Amino acid sequence: MPLIMNIEDIDSLDGLAPRACELCRRKDKVFRCSACLAVYYCGRDCQVQDREDHKIPCKLLRKAHKRYREEEQKLREWQEDLDTPENVFEEHAGRFWRIMGTRPYMVARFDLAHIMNDSYGTPGGPRDLVQDMLDHYLDMLRLSRSDGLGVREIIPALYVRLGRDQDAYDFLRWYADVNENPDYDWGNMSLPFVDTKNADALEEPLQRAWTAKSYLDLSHAVTLLLVKVRILLDLQTVQNTTTALGGTFPPEIIGLIDGKLVRRDTLLRHQSLLSRPEKLEPLMKKIKSQIREVYKAVGEYNPHFWNLMVNNPDACVLQRPQLDGYAQRSEEEALFILDYTFAAWYETPGAVKMLRDLAKS
Ligand SMILES: [Zn+2]
Ligand SMILES: [Zn+2]
Repeated sequence: MPLIMNIEDIDSLDGLAPRACELCRRKDKVFRCSACLAVYYCGRDCQVQDREDHKIPCKLLRKAHKRYREEEQKLREWQEDLDTPENVFEEHAGRFWRIMGTRPYMVARFDLAHIMNDSYGTPGGPRDLVQDMLDHYLDMLRLSRSDGLGVREIIPALYVRLGRDQDAYDFLRWYADVNENPDYDWGNMSLPFVDTKNADALEEPLQRAWTAKSYLDLSHAVTLLLVKVRILLDLQTVQNTTTALGGTFPPEIIGLIDGKLVRRDTLLRHQSLLSRPEKLEPLMKKIKSQIREVYKAVGEYNPHFWNLMVNNPDACVLQRPQLDGYAQRSEEEALFILDYTFAAWYETPGAVKMLRDLAKS
């Protein structure tokens, strides 16, 4: 399975791969490997030729799918006992994990998504697969608000990988807000849950959630930083375009920026700023200062994290710690969160370079 440092030209990665034959990259008339549902082939020839590389991940995925389907079936046919009622999918969505009998199902589903990530979810991997992973994690969160397996740490970076920066920011913002509210009742299904929409990603980072010294949600702070970095990268593109045009902004260029150059949906609500060159410089200054603040907070909270991200991202696979908890600020914590976040960074052209520059400054 390809590790990041082995990817031929790591600096040329740009987002996820579209649906294509795993071997020859042909895009039309491809069919999915029916055993693992993870990769596509254009025909029998490519499938056979790729067999040597594909057979191990295919087998692991097939086993994980089977186990997940069996656990789901068991839970759907469950006869009520002391720990677990019947019809949990219909009547107890949101409370899974607290109901003991749901745990084997939740673990099987978590393992399946994790194996998907390990096998083909590496940077530049297939978009379909990353979408499938996200769907699993989101549905697990819907079933279990208390989130005993911590899928909330994985979801925001997957949104970013899929180019859904606004959804990532809304997700982060909801958890940041609820952090401020110790009385939120995770067991009360009538309360709103992860429902933030169109929060302003240009706002100052929330101190308690993203830059605190005492406790930081590392995965969320790291992904928040990436959302900000992607905004800055787009603003730089806009600025370079205007400079090239002598600082003026003809209407057709604004159209071009709207439609193409600026890719982040987080900037859509700020289009009017983008069309006014005099507003651009202060905005970039503001975002740069936010980036420095969150970068520093992450580095102070976990001193291992940035070094691993920039210099040794493979470590999250090669030195993977056992999944039985980790101490805050430890190297194990850094490795876990690296596993959840590094692909989104490496798939964003210019983002890791920005981390290198920040390390020097
Ligand atoms: Zn092919
Ligand atoms: Zn397969």
